[in-house]
Amino acid sequence: MFEKVLIANRGEVALRINRACHEMGIKTVAVHSTADKDAMHVRLADEAVCIGGPQSKDSYLNKTAIISAAIVTGADAIHPGYGFLSENADFAEMVIKHGLTFIGPTPEQMRLMGDKIASKKMAIESGLPVTKGSPALESVEEAKKWAKEIGYPVIIKAKDGGGGKGMKTAFNEDEVESAFTMAKAEAKASFTSDVVFMEKYLQKPRHIEIQILADMHGNVVHLGERDCSIQRKHQKLIEETPSPALNKEKRDEICSIVCSAIKKIGYYGAGTLEFLFEDGEFYFLEMNTRLQVEHPITEAVTDIDIVREQIKIANGAKLGYTQDDIKFHGSAIECRINAEDPFTFAPNPGKIAEWHVPGGLGVRVDSEVYSGYRIPPFYDSMIAKLIVRGTSRSATLLRLKRALREFVIGGVTTTLPLHEEIISSPEFVDGIYNIHWLEKFLEKRQDKNNDNK
Ligand code: ADP
Repeated sequence: MFEKVLIANRGEVALRINRACHEMGIKTVAVHSTADKDAMHVRLADEAVCIGGPQSKDSYLNKTAIISAAIVTGADAIHPGYGFLSENADFAEMVIKHGLTFIGPTPEQMRLMGDKIASKKMAIESGLPVTKGSPALESVEEAKKWAKEIGYPVIIKAKDGGGGKGMKTAFNEDEVESAFTMAKAEAKASFTSDVVFMEKYLQKPRHIEIQILADMHGNVVHLGERDCSIQRKHQKLIEETPSPALNKEKRDEICSIVCSAIKKIGYYGAGTLEFLFEDGEFYFLEMNTRLQVEHPITEAVTDIDIVREQIKIANGAKLGYTQDDIKFHGSAIECRINAEDPFTFAPNPGKIAEWHVPGGLGVRVDSEVYSGYRIPPFYDSMIAKLIVRGTSRSATLLRLKRALREFVIGGVTTTLPLHEEIISSPEFVDGIYNIHWLEKFLEKRQDKNNDNK
């Protein structure tokens, strides 16, 4: 087993990886920017190396500085977490070239999955269901031709897209030109390539993803699904498992298709295959080749430590269990708590004056925050994840409600009150929502707020 792992990340996920390593008897190295010198991930690791200035490009995205830190401290492996360099195949390649292990799949697999056009082709070849779509689009004329072929509405997406950027919809021919131009411009600004493609825009789908684990010896298991349909601007806010929309038959069907596709590809590591689900049909969106923010809900119902499994797989170990050994218990829900204004969603960095986390049976809080901590303005605004599990969905909801009420965060405004409102709404309670539900809920809420002023 590795003796020392460098954690190339910050925030709650750096703590999450640190915990798994320590429980496995592995020493850890934290890296941090100058803005994060007092961060909890720095305090909890066995060693820490400052790798650059506050801006991510100078520190958490600084490949050379991170690899130098690993070499200087004698680390054997690097865990990239999520975000930052976690899906950067060039980084994974550099790590390997320097004689270190990258905790994740191969750079080739990352490259394939990072390209939405190539991964969709791979999905078709390996038997995954997909939406109607186009190849790379060269011009507005070509886009119009494909839109006619696919049928309106359509969505134009960046080949290298991520984080919900570079996606534009067109409901008729008049809207194609601006959607094409805007998607291309956004792709150019955010990604290395401005290549875009088109697919059918689904109007009321749910976002359902399947978590898999695969080792280097051809063993593949799934850990069930996560429903991530509660989204704002294509960003997930609340996730739950199992999905209220799936019955056993549908779940078994998609999970077995996914496992056989993964076997065919020869992928190893942890991975998530994202689908849209509408009218009983699944449509493959993309595969994430890294740990997901929402992985703890899967851990809650399976009792499998996904980070521990990632580390073992990267070290060449066999899974050591089969699909039949995996048991699913009850239900789990995660709320992402952001330091943002709960109405405008403007980031609200600052000093945490009060901090009290909920506890009790079935409650987990993953967070880097401590009382007196100053949230730096340079990074993501997520400051905590509240994960609650229960024997049934209704039991989980009651527990989540009381846990949200126990949570005290003073000094900065957060999205805590919004979560209480969402989980109390009749549609959420009944599990009847799709990816557009939250945006509509927020509009109504804003109108009510304006009326009260
Ligand atoms: P990213 O890599 O930027 O996260 P994805 O392809 O995973 O992009 O899509 C993110 C979200 O965008 C989905 O969860 C869904 O809300 C929306 N979306 C993507 N493709 C479609 C589509 N064909 N129809 C409707 N919504 C879509």
